[in-house]
Amino acid sequence: MEIFILGSDLLHQKAVPVENIKDGSHKWKEVVQGMFDVLEKGKGVGLAGPQIGLMQQIFVTNIDGDLPRVFINPSIIETSQETAKYEEGCLSIPGVYVDVIRPKMVKVQAWNEKGRPFTLEAAGLLARVILHEYDHLEGVLFIDRLSEPKRKRIMDKFARKAKA
Ligand SMILES: [Zn+2]
Repeated sequence: MEIFILGSDLLHQKAVPVENIKDGSHKWKEVVQGMFDVLEKGKGVGLAGPQIGLMQQIFVTNIDGDLPRVFINPSIIETSQETAKYEEGCLSIPGVYVDVIRPKMVKVQAWNEKGRPFTLEAAGLLARVILHEYDHLEGVLFIDRLSEPKRKRIMDKFARKAKA
């Protein structure tokens, strides 16, 4: 699996829902293992399908002190009014770390790789990672949540880096 980097059109496209999750559980087991491997190698905390060119609604999270988690066809049911600012990075935008404001809490409904539905209420870092990865499925990157001048600065910096 290869990580697609800022500049790839795929990162700005919407992922489509996974069909027949239960029937495809064998396939998902393999894909999910691959995603966790990429995550570990990149020392990341979350990875979404579009980042590896898989345009389907799936993402994984693996943060310290939490179990590795798989989210297929996720929907955000609720987010808190209260927000928090925290420095984010992304395996698809290497070397860029910026404060992003997001809701403190999120309630999400999804299916795991075995095709079992679940609902999860998360706060803190897990909530942030879920929202960041969910954005990827919508074709949204964390830099799209910044002001336009900030976003442009990063894009420019990144374009220079990519050339170097
Ligand atoms: Zn990301």
